[in-house]
Formats: sequence, structure tokens, C-alpha cells
Amino acid sequence: MKDEIVIAEACGGEIRIHAAVTTELAEQARLHYQCMPTSAAALGRTLTVTAVMASDLKNDEEKIVSVINGHGPAGTILAQAMGNGDVRGFIGDPNIYLAREDGHLDVGAAVGTDGTLTVTKDLGLKEPFSGVVRLQTGEIGQDFAYYYTISEQTPSLVGVGVLVEPDGHVSAAGGLIAQLLPGASEEAVEFAENVSRTMKPVSQLVKEGNSAEDIIRMYFPDAVILEKRDVRWHCGCSRERFMRSLALLNNDDLQEMIDDGRGAEIRCQYCGHYYNFDTEDLKLILGSKLRA
Ligand SMILES: [Zn+2]
Repeated sequence: MKDEIVIAEACGGEIRIHAAVTTELAEQARLHYQCMPTSAAALGRTLTVTAVMASDLKNDEEKIVSVINGHGPAGTILAQAMGNGDVRGFIGDPNIYLAREDGHLDVGAAVGTDGTLTVTKDLGLKEPFSGVVRLQTGEIGQDFAYYYTISEQTPSLVGVGVLVEPDGHVSAAGGLIAQLLPGASEEAVEFAENVSRTMKPVSQLVKEGNSAEDIIRMYFPDAVILEKRDVRWHCGCSRERFMRSLALLNNDDLQEMIDDGRGAEIRCQYCGHYYNFDTEDLKLILGSKLRA
């Protein structure tokens, strides 16, 4: 089942739905950081919901950044998703493996609840929009549901899951977010509550071979599909990008770096790739600044 996000509406347009299959996204993130299962699940869930949020963006370069810091052993989790479907992120400690007595991964214990979820929407305007809520369970789905309700005043059902196999790889991941639009009728509210009560874990539905559209039709038979969007793990960092950030340093600092002759080494915080700039590169950057 290929990764994608499907956007739909149901109940005569009173409920807006996003369903996501993100197995490959979560698996790529796991591979990238060699995550243990609970870290893989926590990061995969955060990437999935953030990707869903970004699927509503209008332009490729707009982005959503979610930061979860619950002071649990997993540390800070960050996910960034672009309007074009590129998603990247990281987790403070990729080596967490905590399970409950029933064998389910204990994401809440790994993430912790003593902290916040912050969502920042950068729509290319001067001021990015930012909302912060206290973490509720650290399970991530409920935390985002709380964020939608409190910070965006949109009551939402958020189901998100990552299935990690005993050998450590992600075999299924996905999310279902259903939101009541302003002025939704009592029938729509009841319908959504019923879905919330009866819904199977999304990762299980994906594992069974259901596409994002299948999952929507399963729970919202009258759904009208509005849009399908691609989603993928992709960092998007480049030498040129870091060259532009170096050019933002002031001239004196650049000159100082040139004088000490050691060049600059920059590590991408998302993918860990190293970019090296020697003294000649730094001279070029400073030179182009002085000419500008
Ligand atoms: Zn990178």
C-alpha cells in the first residue's frame, strides 16, 4: 500500500476527514535513526499527524512544525512537513523500548506528560502562527486531538498508529483525523462520536491492506473524496541552503572564520548530513556579500 493522504468530507460536508497511510514514511524515519520500537512509534505518529496537517497547505514551501516535549526518556520529538509532502523530523533518544504488560508499545511513558505540544504554521507570512497545549497522555493522538480542540477550536477525532514488528521494522502506519466543522448538527456530532467508539486502530487497518480511501469509506459511507496528496520522508537540505545560512552571518564573523583558517562544518539537524565549507568557500560567501 503506497503512502498517501486522502482528504474527504462526510455527513453532508459537516465532517472533514483526513486519512493517511504512512508506512514507508515511518519506516524510513526508523531506518534513518536506527530507532528502537517505542521511539519508532513515537516519531512515526508525530510525523504522520504533522504530514496530515501539512496536506491542507496551499503552497509547496509552506510548512508545519510540531514539537513535543514531555520530559520523558524519548526527549524532544520534532516533525516538519512541507506543503509539497516532504516530511522530516527527529527524536531526542531513538533507543527507547518500553512496552506495557499487554505487549503494546508504551509511547506515553516514553514521551512523558510533563510538557507541551507546540504546532507552528509557517505560511510565508511575516509572523508564523503558533499554538501550544499541555500534553494530555503523551500518546500523541490524544495530544493532537486536544491541540485541535483547544488551539484551533475544532473538535477532532485523531487516530494514529505505527505497527512495529518483533524484528524492529515498521509494517504499517497511518492516521485518521475527523473534524467537526463549525455549526455541525447534532447528528454529525453523534456520528463522529460513534466512529470514535467503534474505530479499529488505524495501523491494524493499514496492516490488513486497506488504503486511505478504504479506511474513510469504512467509517464514513457517504464520504466525498476531495483530494489525494503524496507524502514522503525527504530532508531537502543542500549545500546551497547552508551556504545561504552562512551568508546570514555578519561580515565580521565571516572574516573571523576566514582568518582562523579552519573552515566551517555544518551538520543538518534533521538528517545528520555534514556539509563542509573551506576557507575559499567562506571567502566567496563574504565576497558576494560585500559586492551585494
Ligand atoms: Zn538534511
